[in-house]
Amino acid sequence: PELFAPERVNSKGFDLSHTPDLERIEAARAPFETHEWQASSLIANAAQAGQTVAVSNPYDPNQTVGSATLASPQQIEAALNGASAWSEGPAECRAILHKAADLYEEHYGELFALLAREAGKTLLDCVGELREAVDFLRYYAERTTNETPIGTFTCISPWNFPLAIFTGQISAALAAGNAVLAKPAEQTPLIAHFAVSLLHEAGVPRAALQLILGAGDVGAALTSDPRIGGVAFTGSTETAKLIRTNMAKHLSPDAPLLAETGGLNAMIVDSTALPEQAVTAIVESAFQSAGQRCSALRCLYVQEDVADTMQEMLIGAMKELCLSAPWDLRTDVGPLIEAEAQIQISDYVATARAQGRVLYELDQPEKGHFVPPALIDVNGIADLEREVFGPILHIARFKASELDQVINDINDTGYGLTFGLQTRIDDRVQHVSERIKAGNIYVNRNQIGAIVGSQPFGGAGLSGTGPKAGGPLYLSRFRKVDALQSDG
Ligand code: GLU
Repeated sequence: PELFAPERVNSKGFDLSHTPDLERIEAARAPFETHEWQASSLIANAAQAGQTVAVSNPYDPNQTVGSATLASPQQIEAALNGASAWSEGPAECRAILHKAADLYEEHYGELFALLAREAGKTLLDCVGELREAVDFLRYYAERTTNETPIGTFTCISPWNFPLAIFTGQISAALAAGNAVLAKPAEQTPLIAHFAVSLLHEAGVPRAALQLILGAGDVGAALTSDPRIGGVAFTGSTETAKLIRTNMAKHLSPDAPLLAETGGLNAMIVDSTALPEQAVTAIVESAFQSAGQRCSALRCLYVQEDVADTMQEMLIGAMKELCLSAPWDLRTDVGPLIEAEAQIQISDYVATARAQGRVLYELDQPEKGHFVPPALIDVNGIADLEREVFGPILHIARFKASELDQVINDINDTGYGLTFGLQTRIDDRVQHVSERIKAGNIYVNRNQIGAIVGSQPFGGAGLSGTGPKAGGPLYLSRFRKVDALQSDG
């Protein structure tokens, strides 16, 4: 398939160094600064709803952002029964998805307010996230065809990209002609509700796209019912395994699972790297989005000849990081999503501190679920027992002669999502990128923020199943494969 569809262009987004853009954003966002949102499941057939829960602001946990009414078992049953793929042809689906992209772009005020207040997203992240969501809509819209859909897809999405990944999964499943049951993360129901309302307004039929709010039990129900034809999931590796087990027990053996899971991502900086460029890339990769990206850098390997200088420069750059309100333009690092994550990761840092391994950490802000960025000394990536989903960077040193061992150690984690390399030796770029098993390899730049259509995103092994999101093969897994036909 064609990688660059000529009909489509990526969203222009906003330029945060351009004052008129900032003023537009501020004017559009401000009216929703204290707005109380209300979300409920959006199900084609009426049924009694479940309990209502409050949603709080990760930066200001005493502030309520709104409330969400969770789905009851009756609503889940009604949604499963009421799901029906759209009868519109590919051209109409395409037009509707483009219309949805237009609506997303028009409603940036509400979307930015929700991203900041419900998910703690900084302004820079808000802009990136809306662009990515719009790009997914347009990219998949251009790929609608007459091929046979699978049926009803369950799409389970994470809180760290509550708009982009949520929209990406849904629009892919819809573009392939399926009906969708969308189950957003329990932490971010409000933005999901707003997004689905825009998709319905654009013309996606209500039976083709239903929103089902709830926690893990709802996800379990939606992945263990024979009426489900396939599942798209982004989240932890453990949950992906549970989903696979549920599917194996209850769904047809050919039901696909598309899973995008965790990573233990490394970057190698050799002695020829440009120091300022490397430091910028490291800081962005490890600390932007408060490290709450599965693509984020977790383990930095620096060649020992330059390690002292690099470490000093890195700590200097960390000192400049501003931890404050997500919507304040000066903020580099926002809060973590919730108290539980804050406690868990603070404990992790406390253990490293007690072992004398914390090389540098910032101060704790007074309010909000913050974990200050920290730099932790390790011997190598094998010291990382698990993915720590926050602004925590581990640093190790290596000798030139150990490069291949470092590559093996990185591969041995079993993950394979992103990888970064900073070097000015062309042969080394080739040598390393041929050996590293990662879905997305970035050279002399940061390793986050894959762009739809030009940097398809996804990994292998413990990092997921593929095909890569925002790439030409993604939709193929949402369509029926006629095994009898394709094998001749
Ligand atoms: N696609 C995102 C990136 O390139 C990461 C997605 C995720 O964290 O799940 O940074």
